[in-house]
Amino acid sequence: MSKVDAIKFRMYDTGSVGDCLLLLFQKQGQTSFSMLIDCGGFSTSTAKISPAVLDIQKTCGGKLDLLVVTHQHLDHVSGFNQAKTIFDQITVKDVWMSWIENKNDAVAKVLKTKFGKTLARLQDHADRALQVMGNTNQVLPPVKDAGKRLEKRKLSMQNTRNLVHFELGFEPGQKALKGAKPTNDQAMDYVRNKGKIQYRLPGEVIKDITGAEGMKFFMLGPPRDRDMKFFKIALKDEEMYHLAMNSPTDEGEMPEEERLLNTGIDLVEGRSPFADEFLMDAAAIRAFNKVYNSEAFAWRQIETDWLETSASIALKATRLTNNTSLAMAIEFEDSGRVILLPGDAQSGNWMGWHKPDVSQQLKDNGGKTTVELLNHTVFYKVGHHGSHNGTASVSGLEYVKSPDLVAMMPLIQNAIPEEWGGSTNFPAKPLYKVLIDKTKGRLIRTDQGVVTAAKAKELRGQLTREEKKEFTNSFAQGSCYVEYVIRG
Ligand SMILES: [Zn+2]
Repeated sequence: MSKVDAIKFRMYDTGSVGDCLLLLFQKQGQTSFSMLIDCGGFSTSTAKISPAVLDIQKTCGGKLDLLVVTHQHLDHVSGFNQAKTIFDQITVKDVWMSWIENKNDAVAKVLKTKFGKTLARLQDHADRALQVMGNTNQVLPPVKDAGKRLEKRKLSMQNTRNLVHFELGFEPGQKALKGAKPTNDQAMDYVRNKGKIQYRLPGEVIKDITGAEGMKFFMLGPPRDRDMKFFKIALKDEEMYHLAMNSPTDEGEMPEEERLLNTGIDLVEGRSPFADEFLMDAAAIRAFNKVYNSEAFAWRQIETDWLETSASIALKATRLTNNTSLAMAIEFEDSGRVILLPGDAQSGNWMGWHKPDVSQQLKDNGGKTTVELLNHTVFYKVGHHGSHNGTASVSGLEYVKSPDLVAMMPLIQNAIPEEWGGSTNFPAKPLYKVLIDKTKGRLIRTDQGVVTAAKAKELRGQLTREEKKEFTNSFAQGSCYVEYVIRG
């Protein structure tokens, strides 16, 4: 049986920030295997996402060999609701998701239940707070900038609600939740039933797939630990490509967040004087009462603290879901060239790939350790749309050493939502710089095609004639996608 010699990698514009990746495995110019990874946009619509899904349908001839959903976020799954009528006409042979999406997995079950409860509380809290703050008859406390503070609180709460909606699968700012629109859960169930479902574990290597002969699929994450140690590390300082100070997505760790992490998002009820959502310790309660009982600070002043905390918890929840990403590496077994697909994995997920047992299993099952896979990576689908925390440095990019590296970033910069820190935070500048250097300018974005940054142009100008030819010939652009052919 002949082997796959190239992969045509198509990254779609879904009408907003999101992932939708079609991999067409090639044997002498003919597609022998088709694989779709995710299909969604943060704030898109049936009209905006349909061209991409119609192109997928046409290109794969109405048949996908493998459908992978990396994690349950709106920007990765909305298409299965919004373009369901088109997906209904596409048959799928196999479906892969991470172990965390397995409803029969005991560890996953505990996590998902706790997570669901936390989201419900945040949702409830945000709705109530917005209702109270929307009351125009209220008397503002006699403190400096009370009006401005109130506006700031409102914005913070709206961000909280939007982030919760993002988790659940509703359009940002949408009012009626229940029954209003299909949810991320429904999209996941739709995908689960679309083909033969398999839940993947880190350390697994899948090979000898019909049509994909010569390819090995290494499963890297999400880490599977009973204590969720790696899993809960969303931000690890030395792993991140830092932004400027005071960025809204780069906030300091708050005690409430620590509690959230330490308890596995198990927030203890009934202890807080103002709401059930958050447990306070004795010192915090004393501090709270002191402020609460002082005259200058009306109840609204207290609200400021915990409103910001709840926005922060919502952001933490988003990161936790990002960390559930099914991360994998695909290797051309003859040449050893590797394609790296981290989903939206954050620090802990990347770090988990290096757990000795995981790396050893990869070696035993597929012949390469995690570090070896990273060393041989020639194509990188940039994690989490180019955010500062979606590509790990010491556990990730620093190991990527191939002089052939090309990277693709699923980013439409002007569609980055405010809750993520706004478009000025994407792509994270330090990461962008490293990527441009490492790829020698061979970086491709959804919104720009081959990136237009001056430094990238300069570096592309310095490529050898062979490299230039390879890059130019391998890149293509369609009406709703950018494409790159990765040679094996
Ligand atoms: Zn995403």
